[in-house]
This record gives sequence, C-alpha cells and structure tokens, in this order.
Amino acid sequence: MNPKSLRLYELNCIIKSSFNLFRGVAMPIQANKVVSVNYTLKDSEGVIIDSTANSPPFAYISGSEQILSKLEEEVSGMIIDSRKNIKLTASEAYGDYDEKDVQQAKRDQFPEDFNLEVGMRYVANSPDGKHMPFVITEISDNVITIDFNHPLAGKNLEFEVELVDIRDATAEEMNHGHVHGPDGLHH
Ligand SMILES: [Zn+2]
Repeated sequence: MNPKSLRLYELNCIIKSSFNLFRGVAMPIQANKVVSVNYTLKDSEGVIIDSTANSPPFAYISGSEQILSKLEEEVSGMIIDSRKNIKLTASEAYGDYDEKDVQQAKRDQFPEDFNLEVGMRYVANSPDGKHMPFVITEISDNVITIDFNHPLAGKNLEFEVELVDIRDATAEEMNHGHVHGPDGLHH
C-alpha cells in the first residue's frame, strides 16, 4: 500500500526554459528532467477519473518516484508532441484491493469533533510518521469501518498521455524535490 497521487502539487511561478533538445528524438528520458504531460485517466469501463483537459499540463521530475513507476517507464519511451495509450494493471497502478487494509475502529478512537460520515476521507498518522489516507465505509453504533486501500486499488487503468515538454530540472527544483513554474509550484 503506497498511495501516490498524480496531482501532488499546486501550480506556480513562471520559470519556463526552452530546453528542446529532445524534441523529435526518441530516447529514454534521463533522471532529473522536468517532464510535462497532458493526460486523461480512465478506468477499464472507459469512465474518466482524472484529466488535464481544463488545466495546464502536469509536470514531474523524472527518476524521483513522483508518478507510478510503470507509467513513468512508458512515458520515458515517448517523443515530444506524441501521444500514447498506456494500460496499467491494478498491480502496476495503485495495487490490488486488500481486505486486510479494511479495519474496524471504535468511535472513541476519533477526535470528538470528527464528522463521522460514510464516504468521509481522512488521513491517519502512522507511528513512523507516514500519512495513511482512509475512507469511512460503514458506521454502526460503536464500530467505524475504515478502508486504507487507495481509491483506485484493484482497478486496471488506462492513461492517454501526450508528452508536452522535457527540460532540465533546476538546482532549486532538485533541492525542493518538486517542479516550479507554470506546471509546478508557485512559491
Ligand atoms: Zn519549491
């Protein structure tokens, strides 16, 4: 269970470089590049789960585990301005659904001012400091059923990806561990 969100960051300031060296050349994307993509994510029934259709491209730093590794591997073989349909099995994407990640908690384990409602999403902090998102799936008198599975666990996914741009990550971006500029963080 290692949930990774595609959209980890908000958008930001303008540091646009004109790094076009890879335009038209098919070669694997090296580490420490800022890779910008447009994408539409669908489940196996064709239902759209997420899309950049109404937003700027999504950008990530290559080689730093910011997106699903199988997805990154597939994008790495693309050339700029090309499109690719990338199908991931559940285990290549957000993992198989695991019944063991469904747990029962007692009402008094939650803070008193918690709004306990089926469908509410919260994040628990594990003893080693990890953030563990969960959703409340059932509420009975004193037992709250919570599910730590990623919302997309058990789903085969299809990404339609357009590779928009590749440029070197700046030293500052490498320091911060995220992308700055129009497709990244503004700060
Ligand atoms: Zn930063």
